[in-house]
Amino acid sequence: MRALLGHLEEDLIWVAGRANHLLHWHRIHRFCGRCGSPTQSKADERALVCRQCGLVNYPRLSPAVIVAVTRNDRILLARNKGFRIPFYSVLAGFVEPGETLEACAVREIKEEVGISVKDIRYFGSQPWPFPDSLMIGFTAVHAGGEIRMDKVELVDAAWFSRDDLPEIPPPISIARHLIDAFVQGH
Ligand SMILES: [Zn+2]
Repeated sequence: MRALLGHLEEDLIWVAGRANHLLHWHRIHRFCGRCGSPTQSKADERALVCRQCGLVNYPRLSPAVIVAVTRNDRILLARNKGFRIPFYSVLAGFVEPGETLEACAVREIKEEVGISVKDIRYFGSQPWPFPDSLMIGFTAVHAGGEIRMDKVELVDAAWFSRDDLPEIPPPISIARHLIDAFVQGH
């Protein structure tokens, strides 16, 4: 799926992405998580139901926040160990049970680079079906602390100015939309 980014028209990528998301969900919910019996598609809604105990499973959606943090006229970008292509991006992380999106943004930034942020504002959202995420984008402003990188997750993290950006993500991603908005001065 990721290999299609940049090769298909954007509308088609999201159609293929939705299919990828649903196929992935089907593959990992073939059996009931409660009693272990086989599941089957439910007739009247998009769900998988257990043939034995009737437990209904809806498509799994994993929300993640993605945050563009700025400090004066610079943006925080990091290189993640998991990136196959060596680009720098804004930080992101999965929302935990019982957590607000804003609290998740504060926690993720603190965990990954050790700084505090303020003025958290909603930016926009994007399905990210690789395999089952929904990215919720925010902007935030540096409130305190210097970068202390989580070396398990990141290989580099730094503040970059508009005219000195490193390699950044492809135009289709919300990560890129956040960086583009910073470049345009929004
Ligand atoms: Zn069951």
